[in-house]
Amino acid sequence: AVVVVKRRGKGPKWGKVRAIFTDVERKCATPVARLRQVADAMAVEMHAGLASDGGSKLKMLLSYVDNLPTGDEKGLFYALDLGGTNFRVLRVLLGGKEGRVIKQEYEEVSIPPHLMLGGSHELFDFIAAALSRFVATEGDEFRIPEGKQRELGFTFSFPVKQLSIASGILIKWTKGFCIEETVGEDVVAELTKAMERQGLNMRVTALVNDTIGTLAGGRYEDSDVLVAVILGTGTNAAYVERANAIPKWHGLLPKSGDMVINMEWGNFKSSLLPLTEYDEALDFESLNPGEQIYEKLMSGMYLGEIVRRILLRMAQESSLFGEVVPQKLEIPFILSICDIVAQRGARLAAAGIYGILKKLGRDTVTSPKQRTVIAMDGGLYEHYSIFSECVNNTLRNLLGEEIAGTVVIKLANDGSGIGAALLAASHSQYLEG
Ligand code: BGC
Ligand code: MG
Repeated sequence: AVVVVKRRGKGPKWGKVRAIFTDVERKCATPVARLRQVADAMAVEMHAGLASDGGSKLKMLLSYVDNLPTGDEKGLFYALDLGGTNFRVLRVLLGGKEGRVIKQEYEEVSIPPHLMLGGSHELFDFIAAALSRFVATEGDEFRIPEGKQRELGFTFSFPVKQLSIASGILIKWTKGFCIEETVGEDVVAELTKAMERQGLNMRVTALVNDTIGTLAGGRYEDSDVLVAVILGTGTNAAYVERANAIPKWHGLLPKSGDMVINMEWGNFKSSLLPLTEYDEALDFESLNPGEQIYEKLMSGMYLGEIVRRILLRMAQESSLFGEVVPQKLEIPFILSICDIVAQRGARLAAAGIYGILKKLGRDTVTSPKQRTVIAMDGGLYEHYSIFSECVNNTLRNLLGEEIAGTVVIKLANDGSGIGAALLAASHSQYLEG
C-alpha cells in the first residue's frame, strides 16, 4: 500500500521518528530476567496442559507416537507436507539399517492463496490431485509389495486432536488458513475422500504435525534428538515426554515408556510477553484474534507485518517517506527497527526452548553428561541469520556456558517430510503380514 503523507515541514521530522523508535525499543525489551520468567511460565503451562485437556493455553497434544525411528524402517513410502505457503510431496525408498535412505524424490507446489480461505473439498482436491500426478511419475526402482496399497505419512501442520496415529480432528486453523467447514473434521478422512475422488489408491498410515515429523527425521539422524522446534511461517515445538508424566493420558503405558507431545506453543500467552500496541493491532485484525499470541511475536508470517505497522506510524507522524526519499544515513534507523522486532522474537523463542529444557531437566549438568539435541526447521531460522544467531546466543546465555556445551540446535532441513515417511513406515500395514 502507498502511504500518502501531507508534508508540513521541509523534511521528515526526525525527532518524531526517534521518539517512536525509542518507544518501540523500550516496549520490546527482553531483559534476561524477563526471559527466565517466560521460560518458567512455559514450563508451568506445560505441566498444566499435560494434566488435563483445556488445562492450559498450551494444548500439549498427544501424538500417538511412542517410538521414534530406529533406522530399521524399510520399503517405499510417500509423504505429504501441508502447513505453510507451499506443500511438498515426497517418496522415499528406505533400506533398513544398511540401506538407510536409498532414494528420495520430491516436488514442491505452492498453494493458491484463495484455497486457504475457500472450501474444504477444494483444498483437499487440489492436494490429492498434485499427489496423484506425483505418484504417476513413480519409477520402477520404487516398488511396493504385491497386493498392497501405497502408504502415506501426512504432515499436517495445524493443531489436531489425534484419535490415533492415523486420524485426528482439526482444532483450528492458523497461519492464514481459514476454512470453517474443516474445523472439527478428521483431516485424514478428508484427504482419503479426496484421494478416492482422484482415483488414487493410497492409505494414510501416519498423521503428524511438522514438529513431530521433524523430531522423527532428526532422531533418524541423531539419537540424542529430544526436542523439535519450527521457526518458519508459524512456530511450534514438540518433545519426548515420559508417558507416566502425562496425567491426561489414560491409555496403556507404551512399551517405550515415552509419548511425543506436540506442544502447540504458538498459542502460549502470558502477561510476561512484551506486547506493544502494534502487536495488539496486528492481533485484532488477524484471522484469529486472541489466538497464537506467542507465534505472532516471532514467526515469519508476522515479523514483517509488525515492522510495517511501526513504519506506518512513523510515516504518518513524521512525513518519513513524504516527498523526500530517505537518505542513506537514515536507513540504519529502519534496519535497526527490524532488528529490534526480530531480536525480541528470537529471544522469546530461546526462552521457550529453555523452558522445555527445564521441564526435561536438561538445564543442569547430568551425570553422566548427556547431550541434548534440538532439531530445528523453518525458513525463518534457516534464512534469517540475525534471527538464528540471536536464538543461539540467547539460549547459551540462559543455560550458562557449561550446560550450553551439551545442548545443540541442529538444522534439520525439511526433515518433517522424511520424518512423516519414517513414521508411516513404522506404522505400516506391511509389517502386519
Ligand atoms: C501450527 C502448528 C505448526 C506450526 C509450524 C503453527 O501455526 O499451529 O501446528 O507446527 O505452525 O508450522
Ligand atoms: Mg514446513
